[in-house]
Amino acid sequence: MSTLTFDSLNPATGDVVGSHPRHTAADVHEAVERAGEAARWWAALPPAERKRRLLDYKAVLTRHIRELARLIHDETGKPVGDATLEMVLVITHLDWAARHAQKVLGRRRVNPGTIGLNLAATLEYLPLGVVAVIGPWNYPAFTPMGSISYALAAGNAVVFKPSELTPGVGVRLAELFAESVPEQPVFQTVTGLGETGAALAADPRVKKVAFTGSTATAKRVMAACAENLTPLVAECGGKDAFIVDADADVAAAADACLWGALSNAGQTCAGVERVYVADAVYEPFMRELSGLAAKVKAGEDYGPITMPGQLDVIRRHIDDAVKSGRVVTGGSGAVRAPYVDPVIVEDVPEDSPAVREETFGPTITVRRVRDAQEALDLANASAYGLGGTVFSRDARRAAQLARRLRGGMTAINSIISFAGVPALPFGGEGESGFGRIHGADGLREFARAKAVTRQRFPMPGMNITSFRRGPADLERLVRLVTFLHGRRKR
Ligand code: NDP
Repeated sequence: MSTLTFDSLNPATGDVVGSHPRHTAADVHEAVERAGEAARWWAALPPAERKRRLLDYKAVLTRHIRELARLIHDETGKPVGDATLEMVLVITHLDWAARHAQKVLGRRRVNPGTIGLNLAATLEYLPLGVVAVIGPWNYPAFTPMGSISYALAAGNAVVFKPSELTPGVGVRLAELFAESVPEQPVFQTVTGLGETGAALAADPRVKKVAFTGSTATAKRVMAACAENLTPLVAECGGKDAFIVDADADVAAAADACLWGALSNAGQTCAGVERVYVADAVYEPFMRELSGLAAKVKAGEDYGPITMPGQLDVIRRHIDDAVKSGRVVTGGSGAVRAPYVDPVIVEDVPEDSPAVREETFGPTITVRRVRDAQEALDLANASAYGLGGTVFSRDARRAAQLARRLRGGMTAINSIISFAGVPALPFGGEGESGFGRIHGADGLREFARAKAVTRQRFPMPGMNITSFRRGPADLERLVRLVTFLHGRRKR
């Protein structure tokens, strides 16, 4: 066991929040070994018993909501209110995963089709074994638990490596799980720096890695996974667009846009980064947006930048945007480490870093567009594709725009509302990653399909899969197939 430790710091004050072991590769491999046995035990429990334990864990987390929110606040700097909301999301997702696992994954009969008339066909989704979760610091409970809850509900054991900035939250989530499941280490947390995560991803006994973080690190994790053909679900952030259509409720749109951009100091993978506003409502929207932005204060309404290194990225994007665009709110002096004041810049060229790269700060670029179609074209011209927002009063039009907006999730006339619906899958495309957490897809992401066919009776006159098959058997099959599939439909 490693004797080296590292500290987690409060990013607002620099105070030490906690000290945690720097788990070595050997420590990680021991944790995975223990998890292997725990996985077998957990998978062998009746589904109803797993459900009972997970609902108990949910109750334990709920009873510790204030303590956990405080710890999230201490390690990330976000306001306690926002940390409390984060815990509410954790609880509702865990509840959904526990209650739906059996229905989504349990054995069911499927129609064997006409040619398989003599078969009984069943499908079920079995646990993978040990799942590794590598988590970020921006939502240190909600984001990893979006994988952990679903992986546990699907019958797997989990080894979790939290970000080095938020290890305390990760440790506490696993400690509290042991109150509901004391028999085996079904959910363990290992702490450390990047190399601890790297050792976890490279362990051949890990059957799936769920990673959230930067695209660059996702590629490194994927390369490590490739060695063992370990599958990966990767959630790598985005450059989400917010579209304001010509008929939108401008006041509601501005309010939602600002919260989507500034809450959590903009450190939200599906936060608003680019705004496209139809010409017809551009002026009233901007009046409303800048008026509201003037009242939002860094350090009061949202916290500091959690990862100090991110300040350089944010500063670079702001400086670049200010040079090429028109400042509406904030500007070059907005970065007052560890805080960043709200920044809104108009008419920043679409090929500039502030529009193309993930900023992960309380900043937005706004562009006037002819109409929603132009907004959609510009929004979709991104390497990322995670979430997005459409504001429009026309429900049909909004639904069409939402469907065509690049990314896995779109909110209409609301902001990031998809993340709060546990039945909906969450995940991206392109540089935003692949795979899905949450919902039925999120449960299946941590399971393997098992298909079984049972012959109920020999098919008379159609002995196909035998060397005793004669020409007449084949002829009957061809006639049946021609009857079933040979007619052309016009
Ligand atoms: P990283 O991608 O570097 O870190 C994410 C997680 O991966 C952390 O737990 C980290 O551990 C771990 N890790 C780092 N290196 C390895 C490795 N080689 N193998 C396995 N695991 C590893 O992101 P950062 O925290 O450095 O943030 C960088 C940028 O990523 C942000 O600025 C933002 O743009 C984006 N991001 C996106 C998030 C999202 O929600 N999609 C969340 C967080 C960041 P450790 O912290 O100990 O290094």
